[in-house]
Amino acid sequence: MPSERQPTGIPSVDRLLGGGLESDSVTEIYGEGGSGKTLFCLEVTARVARSGRWVFYIDTEGVSVDRLSAVCGPTLDEVLGRLLLSSPKSLDEQGRAVATACRLAREGARPVGLIVVDSGTFYYRLSLSGPDEDDARQALSVGVADLVVTALSAHVPVLFTNQVYRSVREGTLEPLGGSFLNHAAKTILRFDRLPGDRRCVVLVKHRSLPEGAAEFRITPTGLESPGGPPRSGPG
Ligand code: ATP
Ligand code: MG
Repeated sequence: MPSERQPTGIPSVDRLLGGGLESDSVTEIYGEGGSGKTLFCLEVTARVARSGRWVFYIDTEGVSVDRLSAVCGPTLDEVLGRLLLSSPKSLDEQGRAVATACRLAREGARPVGLIVVDSGTFYYRLSLSGPDEDDARQALSVGVADLVVTALSAHVPVLFTNQVYRSVREGTLEPLGGSFLNHAAKTILRFDRLPGDRRCVVLVKHRSLPEGAAEFRITPTGLESPGGPPRSGPG
């Protein structure tokens, strides 16, 4: 039986993903600053919250209320009413926030439709090349494992954004987070900047779809397929 999908509401991306995000696995998004990772998370958040399910949003960057408001339009209050936002200030706090979100999602006392961790590697990055690097890698892995188990057992899609570094040897942008994250995430998307408001989504890895690519545009009110709206629809 095919995995359930959570539509993102961006037709070009949903086509690329065979209908949307897999509901029982972790989707990793990596890409340079300004490539649209956070806006993508906000788009899916708004869609899930409007469908009546809760979203646990773990934000390490200081999410822009203006952008959430622009994405939600008149449904902002409805979305805020289904949003549980936490803003950890360290990798330890991030770990506790992830553990709490996972526990609540698995307990199922309220319907949870999405867990977002954005950026999942902000605090981890700060510890790289320092004395705490091994502990940080371990802490990140424990959190990612918790997200994997939760997605699988509670059928809650997880969006985990990842920062990039430039490989000196290859000259390419590579994801942080180590090989554990790259195995744990069953879908991996890379967001590339194109000229102007255009962005490219590259499907780097999927367990049941071939590699591919799609485009979207960043507009004042959110993300759109190259051809424009509609973005409405069920789920
Ligand atoms: P980072 O890695 O720094 O967190 P990101 O991939 O999460 O970056 P987003 O915050 O999702 O990036 O996207 C930011 C981009 O959105 C900006 O570079 C800008 O091009 C675009 N943007 C932001 N606000 C608006 C707006 N009001 N209208 C149109 N485009 C906007
Ligand atoms: Mg961001």
